[in-house]
Amino acid sequence: MPAIASFAYPDAQGVFDQINKQFYVSPEVLTELTKAFLDEIALGLSEYNHAMAMIPTFVTGVPDGTETGTFLALDLGGTNLRVCEVVLNGDKTFNLVQNQYKVSEALKHGEATALFDYLADSVDAFLTTHATTDYTSLQSDPSAHTSDAVHLGLTFSFPVEQTALNSGKILTWTKGFSAKHAIGNDVVKLLQDAFNRKHMHVKCVALVNDTVGALLSRAYTSGGCFLGAIFGTGTNGAYLEDVDKIRKFAGSAAAANGGAMVVNTEWGAFNNSKSHLPVTPFDNAVDRLSINPGYQIFEKFISGMYLGEISRTVLLSLVDATPKSLLFKGKATPSLNQHYGLDTRFLSEIEAAWIDTGATKGSVELPPLGKPSFESELSDAAKAKLTAVRKVILGPHGLGYKSEDEVSLRDAAIVRWVCALVARRAALLSGVAVATTLIQTGRAVLPGQEGSKALRERNEKIGVGVDGSLVENYPNFNTILRESLRLLVGEDVEQRVNIGLAKDGSGVGAALCALQALKQGL
Ligand code: BGC
Ligand code: MG
Repeated sequence: MPAIASFAYPDAQGVFDQINKQFYVSPEVLTELTKAFLDEIALGLSEYNHAMAMIPTFVTGVPDGTETGTFLALDLGGTNLRVCEVVLNGDKTFNLVQNQYKVSEALKHGEATALFDYLADSVDAFLTTHATTDYTSLQSDPSAHTSDAVHLGLTFSFPVEQTALNSGKILTWTKGFSAKHAIGNDVVKLLQDAFNRKHMHVKCVALVNDTVGALLSRAYTSGGCFLGAIFGTGTNGAYLEDVDKIRKFAGSAAAANGGAMVVNTEWGAFNNSKSHLPVTPFDNAVDRLSINPGYQIFEKFISGMYLGEISRTVLLSLVDATPKSLLFKGKATPSLNQHYGLDTRFLSEIEAAWIDTGATKGSVELPPLGKPSFESELSDAAKAKLTAVRKVILGPHGLGYKSEDEVSLRDAAIVRWVCALVARRAALLSGVAVATTLIQTGRAVLPGQEGSKALRERNEKIGVGVDGSLVENYPNFNTILRESLRLLVGEDVEQRVNIGLAKDGSGVGAALCALQALKQGL
């Protein structure tokens, strides 16, 4: 039987078409989502206990680059644990020495005390091996005076209901963590207790979310910033809000002070009801089999932890298609079969290989994948692109196929198309989150609404600090995000939005926050 005929079945193209439609997000849907997002922001600001928690952070301003000091920072995020020593030079620059430590699956799911002991051990190890300042006299020396203790800022990238710069209760775990006896406890106390158990003279003086860290550090290095956003293992944003608008604060001391405060939105939990999001069966499967079904739904459409998993689920559906497999001749591999077996790095590598050969940036056109003559009709340029993609599929971070015989150029085309489809939707939806904060803070208006004259005549730059593996490594994530931003807030506003990487944002942000805490006398 000729190879070509073995692929064809009457409606192969129909199967691809269907998936293409399921992942398509129209401008209307993007606008609808923005409205729903604004509603959830309003809800979260008015009352406690909403999915989008809109957490007041007690950070009451952003730095201007003149801040100085030396601090330790501990960063527990999604993928890495980092300890850093940060020196703020007071001229928008900083020096940072850091070391990374691995958080094992056992620690993520075990007792919280074991996890926090490990955090303390990592700080201890860092102080002896990496820190440039001589902290040795302070370690394990019970006679050392507490006021000499090393000041540390903790970047804790999970939802925490803060009650001050240096205290807050863990609301829930996300991103695959589930350590026991942590939820409801004060995260600063959990860490400080661990330092104390080890007689370490380290004092945790401030607590900060990674988004707040991104905002503060971008403000420090660039002189202005209103939003910090993470598009990495998880997703979230923090922005500067008028205290008057934080209605759940009414009557409190913080409300009396007025002014502005950074609010950690926890937008990963936007639309947990899924009533507005363009859900596909693949998303439902990923959510259902996740450690937190029904939670962090927006995050599950957007962030690095899930994009590989959504892609894997789509690819497997094509491997398993009936009456005939549409991918890899019906053969899966251990990584394709493995829950979370596909890293987002794979998506980035596929896209990079594709783009390196001159493909249009960010576009996802559905090729005639179901056409029996697909391969014989490929141009030389198209063949070169798909050969590069196949190399990634066969490569060290690939799918585990061993030889070119197992991966046709059509297979490569299908894989690139699926990965790009999933990533493009993520970037478009990320644009919704950014657009919403612009509208919420009066910097833009919804499509179809008249902006005020003052708004139209504004021409200031709008600073946004971003961090995370997707913005850093996925080619064109930014380009596509801006495409949806432009659609939602108009080109004149979009052009003024200056999105910059908050490099080392978690470390520098924690240091800046520690400094604020000391100034507040905490
Ligand atoms: C967490 C946020 C965090 C974000 C990015 C989410 O899962 O809930 O607190 O900022 O991930 O790391
Ligand atoms: Mg991080």
